[in-house]
Amino acid sequence: MLTPNHNYSQLKDSYLFYRIAQKTRAYVESHDGAKLYRLGIGDVSLPLCDEVIKALHEAVDDQAKKETFHGYMPECGAHFFKSAVAGYYQHRGVEIDVDEVFVSSGASDELGDILDLFDKSSDALVIEPAYPAYVDANVMAGRKIQHLASGREDGFLPVPDENIRASLFYICSPNNPTGAVFTREKLKKWVDFANEKGAVILFDAAYEAFIEDDGLPHSIFEIEGARTCAIEICSLSKTAGFTGTRCGYTVIPKELEREGMNLNAMWVRNRTTKTNGVSYILQKGAAAVFTEEGQRQIKANIAVYKRNAKYLTDALDKLGIWYCGGKNAPYVWMQCPKGMSSWEFFDFLLEKAQIVGTPGEGFGSCGEGYFRFSTFGSPEDTETAAKKLVELLSE
Ligand code: PLP
Repeated sequence: MLTPNHNYSQLKDSYLFYRIAQKTRAYVESHDGAKLYRLGIGDVSLPLCDEVIKALHEAVDDQAKKETFHGYMPECGAHFFKSAVAGYYQHRGVEIDVDEVFVSSGASDELGDILDLFDKSSDALVIEPAYPAYVDANVMAGRKIQHLASGREDGFLPVPDENIRASLFYICSPNNPTGAVFTREKLKKWVDFANEKGAVILFDAAYEAFIEDDGLPHSIFEIEGARTCAIEICSLSKTAGFTGTRCGYTVIPKELEREGMNLNAMWVRNRTTKTNGVSYILQKGAAAVFTEEGQRQIKANIAVYKRNAKYLTDALDKLGIWYCGGKNAPYVWMQCPKGMSSWEFFDFLLEKAQIVGTPGEGFGSCGEGYFRFSTFGSPEDTETAAKKLVELLSE
């Protein structure tokens, strides 16, 4: 008799977006034709930029001709893609070798797959509130999780302390859901702590392209000492609208070793066994993001989401409500007004202003009392929602 992976029975129901969808549907059904302002889901609304579309079309044509046709691609990524990523880092003063870059089908895939590198006896540390996949991927793998709560006192950016016994640290900066971004000083504390304890940091940089303040680090490899303790996982999903197209990359420095084993070499072995790479067409499209014109075009799209964030943060400033995020991230994380719980505020906003957001409690218990707005929606709806918010909460 086959024994299934019983760790799956330890997973909690992922009820957050399901419950939001249920409540939203019930509202629409009982309010015929109600127009909703959807600021809940973290999916992009703008199409791929022209530079990417052009490269994708050209790559399709390449596949039609014998001379330019590509069969299997290198499992760890095409040289042209990896060198485009290395060039992007170099532009910011971070030297990485082309063979330290691995192409992926996106950050979610990679955040789950990378756990193959670590023994189950190494516990994971999840800073909460957190992107739910960190917890679930580790539960599936049978790994114990230590939860580290953050809050308004530390700006949702905690620093390590001696109570930490886990050795696989998840750090997401800019953060989903809080939009908070680690400073160099705070990130250095995590890097030093990880090196001292022999831990490894999984740095999720999915939102790095949203950082606009010069002093804030886009990559953990901007911090001295990170090459001996960190893996960076990045995605073009939010940077360049690839949520439905799928492409990302992971950086594993060659110096990163634990117990005499080299994690870069282990990942090469893993990829050459478990994947046959990402398609030529997609890598061509993704490489176009890193050209000068590609960068100009994706920044224009990001500016649209930034304007959405400004509508919301201006509204909250007017109301005197505490929030973080928005400036260097596509999420605005606000404190619920009048002592409301996250779900009470969700119901209140839906009922009184037809605005849909995400209750903070869904990202971990320390998110209770907070609420997340995504800035990826339509500018018209976001602007109207911000006005409605001011009207409703000034009453
Ligand atoms: N990491 C974080 C923090 C995210 O918020 C998301 C998606 O919302 C991902 C990773 C997944 O990105 P991808 O579309 O590349 O799988």
